[in-house]
Amino acid sequence: MDQSLRQLDALNYYTATRKYDPSFPRLEADLDADVVVIGGGFSGINTSLELAERGITNIVVLESRYLGYGGTGRNGGQVMAGIGHDLELIKRHVGTAGLETMFKIANLGAGIIKARIEKYGIDADFRHGYGYMGFNRRQEKTLRAWCAEFKAIDPDNQIDLLVGAEVRQMIGSDAYSCGIRHMGGGHVHSLNLLCGEALALQSLGGRIFENSQVIAVEYGRGSDAAVVVRTSQGSVRARKILFACNAFLDGLEPAIDRKTINTYAFQMATEPLSDELILRISPIRGAYSDIRPMIDYYRVTNENRLLFGASTDYIEYIPGDLKAWNRARMLKIFPYLDKVKIDMAWGGPLCCSANLFPQIGTLPGRDNAFFVQGYSGFGVTPSHIVCKVLAEGMSEGSARYELMSSIPHMNIFGKNALRRPMMSAGKTFHQLSGYFNGRR
Ligand SMILES: Cc1cc2nc3c(=O)[nH]c(=O)nc-3n(C[C@H](O)[C@H](O)[C@H](O)COP(=O)(O)OP(=O)(O)OC[C@H]3O[C@@H](n4cnc5c(N)ncnc54)[C@H](O)[C@@H]3O)c2cc1C
Repeated sequence: MDQSLRQLDALNYYTATRKYDPSFPRLEADLDADVVVIGGGFSGINTSLELAERGITNIVVLESRYLGYGGTGRNGGQVMAGIGHDLELIKRHVGTAGLETMFKIANLGAGIIKARIEKYGIDADFRHGYGYMGFNRRQEKTLRAWCAEFKAIDPDNQIDLLVGAEVRQMIGSDAYSCGIRHMGGGHVHSLNLLCGEALALQSLGGRIFENSQVIAVEYGRGSDAAVVVRTSQGSVRARKILFACNAFLDGLEPAIDRKTINTYAFQMATEPLSDELILRISPIRGAYSDIRPMIDYYRVTNENRLLFGASTDYIEYIPGDLKAWNRARMLKIFPYLDKVKIDMAWGGPLCCSANLFPQIGTLPGRDNAFFVQGYSGFGVTPSHIVCKVLAEGMSEGSARYELMSSIPHMNIFGKNALRRPMMSAGKTFHQLSGYFNGRR
């Protein structure tokens, strides 16, 4: 593996500060289950927990490496409203009424995270306070519309639009001319949240295995026939299967593998900063992102570190020095942090859909083989709502599962051989369209 790829797996903030260290056994037996889930990230664990809360507890989760090895243990921990992308992109598939339903669904995620933390007593450093930031008048117009929408759907939380000098009330940066302060959103230690959710699942009867990579899936005859999944030392026979591998699917199920393409995101953590500096950066100790098509996003951690992340803007590449690359972006927002040391930098793949919308559903001709993937850069909050809807579909069924799973997703041919040029073209298109949809 070359150096730039190796950096992605470097020690990251989450593994360095984890409060839970549950270790789950390797699968070394042949088991029977109602549901077998492949993937131990937010998607696999959340869907399983939702099912267990509905009384379906004979669940086996199989994870190749360890819980949180994927995006769930590497992200920015941002708990924002919505799913991160404009829902208008799917309007032609769901219609006006469907869009309204999707908008309501999309804004439930932060509430689910908070309720889960409270219900299971999870120690995940959840903190309220989110800033959506803009640089110009076009973005101010967009933020004004978002602010009205957020307030309508979330009347109990403090949500306000700040412009000009008012912006400094929520952030210590001259880079921005406008922003929404949304006290319903915030940030979370995503690995601790995942581990707390996994322990909750285990307490309800779910079985979790780490170091248990699924290497083969055998489908029976008939669309509802039992499925057998195999690891190197065991197997699980189940009535239902869920693929929750996201960016790490790696061809395991071609029918869904061809529906996504990977890009990369990069993160860094500063050394712990003084209380004075943190107060200057963020009086609300919050999480922030701008609203450009390719965002910078950052937050203050419990230990007074600034966690900063981004992806490349146009050309797809993995920077040679992740610390230097992220630091340069951070200094554009906070030039006064130029003496601050960067302690850690890491990254990971993001699984993208052509329409940027998360994908759920069943495999063609297989009513008992479910999948979830394609959060397209977001996933901390979206996975919590998407997996609630998916669990409805995997159990009693629901109108919102039918709606969400009816959205068609394009095949992306040449996703491996042509990944870099295709992603560069996609990012450029996304950036240009930002001028027309008020995000640039
Ligand atoms: C650097 C980075 C920054 C990000 N920042 C943010 C952010 O600030 N906000 C936000 O909302 N989102 C962010 N994301 C995206 C978000 O983290 C993901 O969308 C989300 O965690 C996806 O969860 P998941 O469970 O679907 O996938 P993952 O967490 O990737 O889990 C998939 C799991 O499946 C396992 N697996 C794969 N194949 C097999 C197999 N054959 N057998 C067994 N197990 C298998 C993998 O090992 C992996 O653990 C970021 C992602 C990255 C990489």
